[in-house]
Amino acid sequence: MIRTGCPAHNCGGRCLLKVFVRDGVIVRIETDDRPGDTVADPQLRACVRGRAYRKRQYHPDRLMHPLKRVGKRGEGKFERISWDEALDRIASEFERVKKAYGNSAFYVPYGTGSYNQINGRQTAQRLMNLYGGSLGFYNSYSWAAISAATPTVYGTAVTGNQRQDWLNAKYILMWSWNPAEMRDGTNSEYFVQKAREKGARVVCIDPRMTLSAVALADEWIPIRPGTDAAMMSAMAYVMVDEKLTDADFVRTHCVGFDETQMPAGAEGAESYKDYLFGTRDGVAKTPEWAESICGVPRATIARIAREYATTKPGVLYQGYGMQRRAYGEQAVRAGCVLAAITGNVGVPGGWASGIALQAPDGGPFWLVFPVGENPVKAIIPSFLWTEAVLRGKDMGEADGVRGVPKLATDIKCIWAVACNALINQHGNVNRTARILADEKKVEFLLVQDNFLTPTAKFADIVLPVCTQFETWGLEDGWKYGDEVILMPKIVEPPGETKSDYRICSEIAARLGLEKTYTEERTERDWVAWSLDRYRQSRFPGVPSLDELENSNAGIYSVPVTKPAVAFADFRRDPAKHPLPTPSGKIEIFSKRLHDMGRPAEIPAVPKYIQEWESPFGPEAAKYPLSAIGHHYLSRVHSTLEGVDWLEEAFPQRLFINPVDAGPRKIKNGDRVKIWNDRGAVVVKCRLTPRIMPGVVALPQGAWWTPDAKGVDRRGSVNVLSSERWTPLAFGNAQHTIMVQVEKAEAA
Ligand code: SF4
Repeated sequence: MIRTGCPAHNCGGRCLLKVFVRDGVIVRIETDDRPGDTVADPQLRACVRGRAYRKRQYHPDRLMHPLKRVGKRGEGKFERISWDEALDRIASEFERVKKAYGNSAFYVPYGTGSYNQINGRQTAQRLMNLYGGSLGFYNSYSWAAISAATPTVYGTAVTGNQRQDWLNAKYILMWSWNPAEMRDGTNSEYFVQKAREKGARVVCIDPRMTLSAVALADEWIPIRPGTDAAMMSAMAYVMVDEKLTDADFVRTHCVGFDETQMPAGAEGAESYKDYLFGTRDGVAKTPEWAESICGVPRATIARIAREYATTKPGVLYQGYGMQRRAYGEQAVRAGCVLAAITGNVGVPGGWASGIALQAPDGGPFWLVFPVGENPVKAIIPSFLWTEAVLRGKDMGEADGVRGVPKLATDIKCIWAVACNALINQHGNVNRTARILADEKKVEFLLVQDNFLTPTAKFADIVLPVCTQFETWGLEDGWKYGDEVILMPKIVEPPGETKSDYRICSEIAARLGLEKTYTEERTERDWVAWSLDRYRQSRFPGVPSLDELENSNAGIYSVPVTKPAVAFADFRRDPAKHPLPTPSGKIEIFSKRLHDMGRPAEIPAVPKYIQEWESPFGPEAAKYPLSAIGHHYLSRVHSTLEGVDWLEEAFPQRLFINPVDAGPRKIKNGDRVKIWNDRGAVVVKCRLTPRIMPGVVALPQGAWWTPDAKGVDRRGSVNVLSSERWTPLAFGNAQHTIMVQVEKAEAA
């Protein structure tokens, strides 16, 4: 039995597995059973995906050999080739693209299918940086709006207390937050449960009655997708109207709440109170007003406002689904403002809201492996890569380009490592497929993966990568947590598979960069090197690699006995410990946003803005149902697709309320067609009252499988989602979807 980290795939967790090996084959997987299991240092217990991993490891569809494309791009026709032929072709294509277009034409896209320190896209980024660089990116498909919006209020993304502090909360609002299914830090649901056992009331606000709502909450409040800022505004209205705010805290620690505290240069602008009471637009943001938008009864809105404002300290935890939307920034800012005006910032048991990286230092590292500096200074928002393929040379600041005034070239060569975001996870799959099918645009597409994913089907060369059980790796917590987890090599790589690192080393050799790239280290050497970095920074007591390996502990963890509270110093003395905002205070009104001069899309105070696809727009006549693509326990995004155990437990299907199914003559288990102008999907359906009427949910991550007519028969929600981005963050708005549903054919 070997203890190891669960192969890391951006699930939102980092758990410890016990892997049983017989004759070089993994025969069983169990999870963390370390004695103790305290709140300060809890076990890192695996979810069903980690426990089912054996079925992915030994899946018959795993790639075993390098492949070269022999059909048209996207046709999925490949021929087996040798490693030598594959590597020679890659090196010659790299040299050709570099000579013809320069290094800015290379792109190593966002991809999280393999996500530990020594495996995944950063291995390719390191080589690219040594090779002269590539077009960079910022932001992610997970957190674009929340990571841009949170600092507009607090000046930082480190707004979260260590989670042990939730046990001090008396009230927890889980807003669009579903840690039982997407996880959001191993043990987040455990800490909520512990807080509840101590007496905290837990309320879940979500269009779906999620497993988190079922398992953790005292009450589920269904809300129409994309209207969170309306309900939040009405809650603020009630608090102000009924004098439930922490007026002293607002006066001493905030700016922009009312006309008495507007920043210099914006004295006459609309304050937050002006917005709430309709001083300028004539619309008071009352619960009655919000009810017609968000679908939550006015009495419930007022009650939740009173509960959150008076049951203190309280946590308003914002999940990420609500910000992957048209104006996702607004809900984030509105939630932060609710935390601020109730005085829940900087106190034990409170929560500042926003992205909430862990205090005091931002929490776990995302990257230790040294990618080096990228000589190409241009970076784009991660979601705008198709724009950079189509019109890179025209892209500048207005498209979120940073580092240069304009891009030098379009993207011509993509090296996708552990990345199914090119096709499957990007908005509007049919559009992306058309773009990638054109060989004059992206001239060379290299994919490294464990499986022939929908993205890999568009590759010119596909390289077979071993799993994380078959090489060395290292990981620390996902967003939260205070541990380092060793991932030793457990079994041999099958077929001709190799690790990402080894593949990059061999490409480096053909580019004359092998020694510079490897520094003569193996994967295991880099694990030891990374452990040294941890020892020099977050974890001075972390053992050596030999000690960790010999003890078979799998993990080094630091108990949290005094959880850090974000902004505690600022709370105590705002003059001595100002925030890194322009005013030094919590910016309910942001002068920076005000000065952008785009109030309809980027208002200076958080507002509800009707989305560009909405039940209230003309598009609803044709497409009356809101669709969301929630995280699902059968997959981590698109990873673990095809694992039969998981598919049996959590089959891919459309969730629809009987209220919407009835008039469409749809019965439980029927095959249904879901479509809009971007595409169509056919899957079976599940009738359930656990989704709000007017809303359907299609779990995200299923692999796009078009039939001869282009109708997806597997259920990729991104056939329906859009490539349009949010105004401030240039982030993905992939949950803003309107669709129609009808019965397709007999089940
Ligand atoms: S939460 Fe993530 S790391 Fe933990 S077992 Fe599940 S898939 Fe693995």
